[in-house]
Amino acid sequence: MTNTHVLHRHLHHRPPTAVSGQGVWLEDDQGRRYLDASGGAAVSCLGHGHPEVIAAMHAQIDRLAYAHTGFFTTEVAERLADHLVASGPPGTSHAYFVSGGSEAMEAALKMARQYFVETGQPQRSHFIARRQSYHGNTLGALAIGGNAWRREPFAPLLIPATHVSPCYPYREMRAGESPQDYGRRLADELEHAILERGPERVIAFVAETVGGATAGVLTPVPGYFKAVREVCDRHGVLLILDEVMCGMGRTGSLHACEQEGVVPDLIAVAKGLGGGYQPIGAVLAQGHVVEAMSTGSGFFQHGHTYLGHPVACAAALAVQQVIERDGLLARVRERGARLEALLREAFVDHPHVGDIRGRGLFWGVELVEDRATQKPFDPALKLHARVKAEALREGLMLYPMGGTVDGRYGDHVLLAPPFIVDDTELALIVERFHAALQRSIHS
Ligand code: PLP
Repeated sequence: MTNTHVLHRHLHHRPPTAVSGQGVWLEDDQGRRYLDASGGAAVSCLGHGHPEVIAAMHAQIDRLAYAHTGFFTTEVAERLADHLVASGPPGTSHAYFVSGGSEAMEAALKMARQYFVETGQPQRSHFIARRQSYHGNTLGALAIGGNAWRREPFAPLLIPATHVSPCYPYREMRAGESPQDYGRRLADELEHAILERGPERVIAFVAETVGGATAGVLTPVPGYFKAVREVCDRHGVLLILDEVMCGMGRTGSLHACEQEGVVPDLIAVAKGLGGGYQPIGAVLAQGHVVEAMSTGSGFFQHGHTYLGHPVACAAALAVQQVIERDGLLARVRERGARLEALLREAFVDHPHVGDIRGRGLFWGVELVEDRATQKPFDPALKLHARVKAEALREGLMLYPMGGTVDGRYGDHVLLAPPFIVDDTELALIVERFHAALQRSIHS
């Protein structure tokens, strides 16, 4: 055991002590600096120490730090909801504020269930989601998610859910199949799963619009989500999109679903909403879902102590205002194109880089033992952990993960730098990443 009373993520390893952060850099108590190429876990969209966000939080703390939502609303929560509804997909009518991504997903799942209770379809009790997905670590979200290794120890506690294929062209699109045909095949698989369960029993299909940490940034093929939306509509099934990681500008549009041309019934957002300045997540609900609760029981039967926390709302409002004012979505698209070019240039002939995929400032690099056969590395090597450690030694924060292919095999590295990253920093990210990968493979 290490010298600490904090129950860290790993019980045999005490991580470095972070003491300050500025822009894309974090510093530890030894004076070592780390280039934050992953925004933690795709959180720090504005980087660290943003003066305007900090000022907004200070102002809110001085005015009012906390008021329980069973008694009060606050001006800052109202303003944040106004902002999110105005900038949300057409038909968005309300925002429900929680403290993170898992809580947002739990709330979305319960809201979807309550929608059917209110509208006279209480027999709907089943969720369909995808393999190789992640929706959070609380029991409901974990049950819906398709992350095999995270689910395994807790499997007896999880409610049953159906998992269909992810949209994973690198490994699962057939030879000779067009991306459009592949997307259609996946939508057919979803429809088949709905019919098998009994359409009258299914509450919702749940998916990350762009897959995140589990399989390393899976971008949907053209037409996939449109076909999914049609299947859901045909059977009265709701569509819940989890944009906790890929949303709030990360892929170059405020909501990733904008690029798919679909409007889900519910969207969960979190990480980039508050950019790490405060813990906050939200469910953005379409009018018909809220209307059903409003004309039914008149309330959403859910709640937590820290719903709509004023300081969290102040941080999120400031983050979102900066993104809007500074035109950062366009910057994400520009810098994203630069990052893609640098990654492709650096790894074009790399024997162990199988696939580079992503959108905006959200990129996944899948590592393979053999590029020709796509054979993954032996999981016993824990290559992903080596890459993370070597990168940290280089002064670089990457977000690698194992189990890319099926929860056991495969490794990838996720990059999600702050939206304010500049070209010099992007070049340094790719240079250090390349060096860390070489040492991980050859050590
Ligand atoms: N959903 C997705 C897509 C995520 O990536 C995450 C976290 O990584 C979550 C949900 C859970 O969010 P949190 O860790 O804030 O509870």
